[in-house]
Amino acid sequence: MADDRAERIAEFIRPLRVEPGRKVHLADDFDPGYKAGIRKKKEGVELLRTGVELLADYQRRLAAQDTYGVLVCLQALDAGGKDGTIRHVMSGVNPQGVQVSSFKVPSTEELDHDYLWRYACRLPGRGEIGIFNRSHYEEVLVVRVHPENLDRQRLPDSARGPDVWDRRYREINDWEHYLTDNGFRIVKLFLNLSKEEQRIRFLKRIDVPERNWKFSPADVRERARWDDYQRAFSQMLSATSTKWAPWYVVPADHKWFARVCAAAVLAHTLIEINPQYPRVSDETRRGLAEVRRELEREAPKGAALDPYAASVSKGESGNRKPRRRAP
Ligand code: AMP
Ligand code: MG
Repeated sequence: MADDRAERIAEFIRPLRVEPGRKVHLADDFDPGYKAGIRKKKEGVELLRTGVELLADYQRRLAAQDTYGVLVCLQALDAGGKDGTIRHVMSGVNPQGVQVSSFKVPSTEELDHDYLWRYACRLPGRGEIGIFNRSHYEEVLVVRVHPENLDRQRLPDSARGPDVWDRRYREINDWEHYLTDNGFRIVKLFLNLSKEEQRIRFLKRIDVPERNWKFSPADVRERARWDDYQRAFSQMLSATSTKWAPWYVVPADHKWFARVCAAAVLAHTLIEINPQYPRVSDETRRGLAEVRRELEREAPKGAALDPYAASVSKGESGNRKPRRRAP
């Protein structure tokens, strides 16, 4: 049954995956309105609920095993739905096991370091899921579309030649390979929005007062560079989808569908890791049995010796009376 579920999830996300080495041309290769044949939003919402429960279970095991970490990188154009995706997909997960990091225009301190430094500082630990709301990929996206960002990084001439983007792709791939080899799996999601849907969402941000804060005039300036961003995204997807950290292009025109996809890709990765609760040694178990006897001896008069064990055995065998301490 569990294998069947894993197989269905793998099947569902296959069309979103960028096969390593494939040359992507976003506009021709991925449809932002794709819904995998799911006609009703209601069906999608139900699927997401199942996905969220599955994630919660795997996250508990990931934390208990404390061996692997997972880094989710979320990239999108403005209004692509990154915030809502995080909110919905992680809604069932213990907040202690997740940390979200948002990356904005780099600070003076961040610009004083190599370009991967600020991302390395925010990596998840073992047992954790880290979410990058924007990620190191901004370094080959916004920085590429607006080269003045590169000037601010004060690189030596030798690091600024025409091959700077190919070099960054290689460095990013190498960094991710290193992380994967050391137990950190990387999930890369690009929320792929159409230009028309972005227009509609911008208008909504202007029309609804409670959403005004989400809109910035800079968003319209970036929209004017739509084709440049499409090119930068296509090249990024072609160059950095690797065997160890493939990209998934998530159709983002239907928010509910984007969330189902994001949950499915993350679930797929966790299923592959297959984290297990640690099992203690026989010797430790014998020690635990001894402690249990001591705790049972401390039961107040008339109380169940071990209320939890009593409730379990009651559940299994009807009304069996729990062992009680004599009054
Ligand atoms: P928001 O996510 O809407 O709060 O906006 C964050 C802004 O920071 C966006 O306009 C990004 O393009 C910008 N940003 C993020 N990372 C970088 C970077 N490495 N260099 C320059 N700008 C960046
Ligand atoms: Mg913004």
